[in-house]
Amino acid sequence: MHDFSDELAHLASQSLLRTRRVVDGPQGPLLMVEGRQMLSFCSNDYLGLARHPEIVAAGIAGLQQYGMGAGASALISGHSTAHEKLEEELARFVGLPAALSFSSGYMANLGVIGALVGTGDTVVVDRLAHASLIDGARLSGASLKVFPHNDVARLAQVLARCPVGRRLVVTDAVFSMDGDLAPLAELAAVCAQHDAWLLVDDAHGLGVLGPHGGGSLAQAEVRSPHVLCMGTLGKAAGVAGAFVAGEASLIAWITQRARTYMFTTAHPPALAVATSASLALMARDDWRRERLRELAAQLRQGLAGLPWALLPSSTAIQPLIVGDNAAARALAAALRDRGIWVPAICPPTVPKGSARLRISLSAVHTPEQVDQLTAALQSLAEEGAHA
Ligand code: PMP
Repeated sequence: MHDFSDELAHLASQSLLRTRRVVDGPQGPLLMVEGRQMLSFCSNDYLGLARHPEIVAAGIAGLQQYGMGAGASALISGHSTAHEKLEEELARFVGLPAALSFSSGYMANLGVIGALVGTGDTVVVDRLAHASLIDGARLSGASLKVFPHNDVARLAQVLARCPVGRRLVVTDAVFSMDGDLAPLAELAAVCAQHDAWLLVDDAHGLGVLGPHGGGSLAQAEVRSPHVLCMGTLGKAAGVAGAFVAGEASLIAWITQRARTYMFTTAHPPALAVATSASLALMARDDWRRERLRELAAQLRQGLAGLPWALLPSSTAIQPLIVGDNAAARALAAALRDRGIWVPAICPPTVPKGSARLRISLSAVHTPEQVDQLTAALQSLAEEGAHA
């Protein structure tokens, strides 16, 4: 029997073996990790809502009302009043006519792309788009084309050369490993010109950007019947699941055709109840977004002048480029020794030679905790950790 031990040893020799650490207790800046308290800059809990008492209370009330499991897929008998209410609230939150909820962002991207395009159609993907968008594009059977990162002119050329058939352009709104933003208004205009849909994955913008956290499309003031928004609920919303929002007719079609919606058990109704509570908090607590911006500015100021380049980013994602895989892992390990947990991200998640520390901030980090990280990186730079 092939047991993959050679492959695992090869990954280890390339510093590409991923480790999974056991966290005990709820999310937050301070985590208990295998018996040791760590200051974490790993989480996508950007607004610090994952353990919020109002969301936890809503989840408990939902469990009492609905029990645990949904019991069936949504199109059989799993779609509850809690799901129905949540979908209306999600549509309102992002300012689009209709929404459909999914069990995760990964599943939403697979399902939505496969529902919109297939054999004979074309899907055009930003080169740095998230793995779930690429997987969805491949699985759809449509012809897959890639355009250079955020290059709208090249996208227009690709679309102009597309054969007949449906066209779908997909992009992250906030790039998950770089923290930069897609030029959504320009992308939407080019898509409208070429009769293509634009699917925007707002996993890292929802709740963080736009008025009251309405997301990247709201921030860019993009409204078009060609545009669909996919949002995840396990990040800023602090819960789990995802949704796609857009024109009612498109959402109705996706409900009929998205295989990752049709052939899976609906997520627990109590989760929908908790998510409704989270949406209300996200819309209400503008101070969380303000705090996040202040912390990002503080971090960037603190890290200026260090030997590692901080990518330009105004979001919660602040990547520090190290370059070499082993060096990135060594830097993360040295921080861990100092009680600070920042993930090292290596290829294939990011392009070769651009291994990095992905620092992610949360509104519930304190300025002192951010200072602790910058002081640790400064002392490591002085010790020559970059050499
Ligand atoms: N899209 C992007 C851009 C992401 O970063 C992620 C999660 N890392 C997903 C989709 C998948 O979302 P989920 O975790 O809900 O499956």
